[in-house]
Amino acid sequence: MIDSEELRFHCIRCGNCCLDKNTLVNVTYQDILRIVNGLKLDLEEINEIIGFYIFDQPPNKKELEKMVVPPIETENGKAFVGLKKKSSGACYFYDNKNGCKIYNLRPMFCRTFPFSFKIVMNKANKSRTKIEIYYTDKSVKYCPGIGKDAPVTNKDDWITIGKKTIEEMSRNNVLIKKWNDAIKSKKIFPSAKSFLRSVLNLRDVE
Ligand code: SF4
Ligand code: SF4
Repeated sequence: MIDSEELRFHCIRCGNCCLDKNTLVNVTYQDILRIVNGLKLDLEEINEIIGFYIFDQPPNKKELEKMVVPPIETENGKAFVGLKKKSSGACYFYDNKNGCKIYNLRPMFCRTFPFSFKIVMNKANKSRTKIEIYYTDKSVKYCPGIGKDAPVTNKDDWITIGKKTIEEMSRNNVLIKKWNDAIKSKKIFPSAKSFLRSVLNLRDVE
């Protein structure tokens, strides 16, 4: 946890976070809309880019509670929604020469890496007291841009990003809950395409 300490980070664009085959870049519905609008994609095209990763073992209640982005229900089981990967394991949008091909449109997950955020609540009156910042476990493993030799970065800027991220995640979680409830009550067919269609329908609302 980083709280009172200095925040040290400078991205050296090594690409480790985009190349790691074990890292799935989860996307919120706002990430999907940003990419759709920025690249002017239709349903078929966005379907080529977004992956629906089915869990080998359905997560239990405790595991579900820990997830920042909950899975969605599909006809094949619970799925994690994220960017597709190339056969090498690199992100679909990673270019070996030029790095991220959608840098200005990249998902929130990529914008916040190597950090993760948590709201600290006041237990007595249930109000929010502050946002804590963490290095993610993955960043500690493979990000050379962090550590005691990295330059100090502006913590207030990251707190602002953290607030935005938490708000975006909350809105996304509301959408996922609505989707999952609709699937349970058999109101919608639980296909990946149908999920993407419902996200695209939000274009005019957002
Ligand atoms: S691993 Fe760290 S230094 Fe390398 S590109 Fe990702 S954020 Fe930047
Ligand atoms: S979207 Fe861009 S920044 Fe994010 S993992 Fe893919 S290539 Fe890297």
